[in-house]
Amino acid sequence: MSVLEPSLVPVFEEVVRRNPGEAEFHQAVREVFESLEPVVAKHPQYADEEIIRRLCEPERQIIFRVPWTDDAGHVQLNRGFRVEFNSALGPYKGGLRFHPSVYLGIVKFLGFEQIFKNALTGMPIGGGKGGSDFDPKGRSNGEIMRFCQSFMTELYRHLGEHTDVPAGDIGVGGREIGYLFGQYKRITNRYESGVLTGKGLTWGGSQVRTEATGYGVVFFVDEMLRDAGDSLDGKRVVVSGSGNVAIYAIEKVHQLGGVVVACSDSAGYVVDEAGIDLELLKDIKNTRRGRMSDYADERPGTRFIEGGSIWDVPCDIALPCATQNELDADAAAALARGGCTIVAEGANMPTTPDAIRTLREAGVRFAPGKAVNAGGVATSALEMQQNASRDSWTFAHTEERLEQIMRSIHDRCLETADEYGVPGDYVAGANIAGFIHVADAMMALGH
Ligand code: GLU
Repeated sequence: MSVLEPSLVPVFEEVVRRNPGEAEFHQAVREVFESLEPVVAKHPQYADEEIIRRLCEPERQIIFRVPWTDDAGHVQLNRGFRVEFNSALGPYKGGLRFHPSVYLGIVKFLGFEQIFKNALTGMPIGGGKGGSDFDPKGRSNGEIMRFCQSFMTELYRHLGEHTDVPAGDIGVGGREIGYLFGQYKRITNRYESGVLTGKGLTWGGSQVRTEATGYGVVFFVDEMLRDAGDSLDGKRVVVSGSGNVAIYAIEKVHQLGGVVVACSDSAGYVVDEAGIDLELLKDIKNTRRGRMSDYADERPGTRFIEGGSIWDVPCDIALPCATQNELDADAAAALARGGCTIVAEGANMPTTPDAIRTLREAGVRFAPGKAVNAGGVATSALEMQQNASRDSWTFAHTEERLEQIMRSIHDRCLETADEYGVPGDYVAGANIAGFIHVADAMMALGH
């Protein structure tokens, strides 16, 4: 671990003490703190006003019971969460994750990251996150619907288009947003489109929202390459995951001339030297809700490797798009050995701190999720904008806005890194630019 700036040591210790056992949250806070030394040196007012300390304490944390009835008639029990972390820049904004690994520490880490990510987009959105330890795997459509309805029956009182605006994350896609929005509408008797994003196109959703995170990842990487006088053309890319972020990252890589040779799910990974067949992948994952092993069964010339590490597949560019801490130091070393020159995070915090160090030492350029995957939430903000003006934009216009936003986030990271004496460091650039934006607003508001 790097050494923290001395004035931040007690602040970090306090975060650990106040949030016992929440390892992912500690990890996310520490990673931001490690970037703040040049900021504290240049602007002592942030330390004097104890902004950093306050930023680590969520404004509000909601934990609630979610009872629901399964298809066999048994009452099941889950826990729901919403952490409303920071509203200095706008209503709390961030996804809902339904996955058995969800507990308060995961929601806090995601909510904390979301503050900086949302600030980096330059749009008027604060940071929040929520979810449940509910496991959607193997559940029927009716069970998913009843779960979502019960979840919203409690959460609705905390939401509002000017208050808190959730969206999807792992385990929450268009279907779940539909059931959640439907329940909100029935309880409140308001067609309040701006209360959730990621809605369907016929009921208030935005073009490109589904594709936005994955497309945004690739626009960012394209800008990294451009900066080095290179392009995606002919590049070999490995993408972990096979969910919404992965699928649309693969689509955009292919559109821009690269080839994605591997992707994965929690059971293993597929290698397809001819380039992942997107139609087949979308059919398996979105329509049939199947597994990557089905892909290998159905497409000749490919292989499925059960377990194992997708990062052993040699590539030029690696895009971790599955989940937190999926890429460790061994994987980072394997990537460097395989000739990888760029790692950009599509997921939230998929690379461990040791892995980031290993990549740096090997000269691999690394860009963090809070910058690289900000296209999803940025397009959510565009959806809110369309909802507020009762308008809907074309696909081409919305995609153009997304592309501009991603390229400007990229430039802001590099300019900030330069300004604070850490040229080329995307992690520091993203953390510092996001921090200053939100910290200045907090001070102005007396928060
Ligand atoms: N869950 C996504 C993220 O991690 C999107 C959040 C949103 O659109 O509000 O940024």
